[in-house]
Amino acid sequence: MPELPEVEGVVRALSPKIVGKVISRASLSETIYQSHQLGKQCIVKNMEPAAFEMALSGMEIKRVHRRAKYIFMDLEKDGNPFLLVNHLGMTGAWFVVQKEEDILEEKFKKHIHARFSLTTGELLIFSDIRRFGEFRLLHTIDEHPPLLQIAPEPFNQNALNYFLAKCELPKYANKPIKEVIMDGQVISGCGNIYATEALFHVGIHPARKTGRISKERKIALFEAIQKVLLESIEMGGSTISDYRNINGEAGGMQHRLKMYGKKICPNCSANTKTMTIGGRTSVYCPKCQH
Ligand SMILES: [Zn+2]
Repeated sequence: MPELPEVEGVVRALSPKIVGKVISRASLSETIYQSHQLGKQCIVKNMEPAAFEMALSGMEIKRVHRRAKYIFMDLEKDGNPFLLVNHLGMTGAWFVVQKEEDILEEKFKKHIHARFSLTTGELLIFSDIRRFGEFRLLHTIDEHPPLLQIAPEPFNQNALNYFLAKCELPKYANKPIKEVIMDGQVISGCGNIYATEALFHVGIHPARKTGRISKERKIALFEAIQKVLLESIEMGGSTISDYRNINGEAGGMQHRLKMYGKKICPNCSANTKTMTIGGRTSVYCPKCQH
């Protein structure tokens, strides 16, 4: 699943290719139409596919930015601002191409769910193999309340104090630290890969109760999360399964990971262990993490 660094990579690659351009036509897949007919809302949420297509046609793309793991596109039509919120889900991927055939990997070409024709003649394409991706067309962020509850960006000045304050709440103090740092209302954009890495870096056991970790260690953990996220942004993200940037390229961070997916601890050579925390598989070293 793409995490914050991967989403940041998509935004940085997408932005210069589409900002300032106008969508002449939007077209959604047959799969999306069929799911809506069955009362399910595959990919496009809270809006009929035909209405979505019509609304997007004629919109100018003013800005592309990231908030946590969401891609925000600021759009404008007839002087009115709109916000297109996109989540990549497990396997969402964006492409900017002259024609569909330019998408080299067959699996992405086979699972195109949204095509936006740009007035410049290019195609902006959203492909999603497993279809957990999401689109929401809003006027303002307030229309989708979960977006308002996201913790500050992890690189913002107030993010550390926000995290420390949340850890004090009984709701979080009794939970395993790994579950807490992966909660988007506590820290934004720290998924399984980076939570696993940061906990290993500071030697904290993923199941340790949050309330039983000293303030100093929590600060060190927060700094480790920032560091691993920044490093991954620089490396172009981790490619664990089907993540691709908009040029169809894989990131390089997976080669730097020290604990995620490892069988042997790189520090002490002990066999790593796994346990399920908050529904997610967690890898850790039983000797180095306490
Ligand atoms: Zn170890």
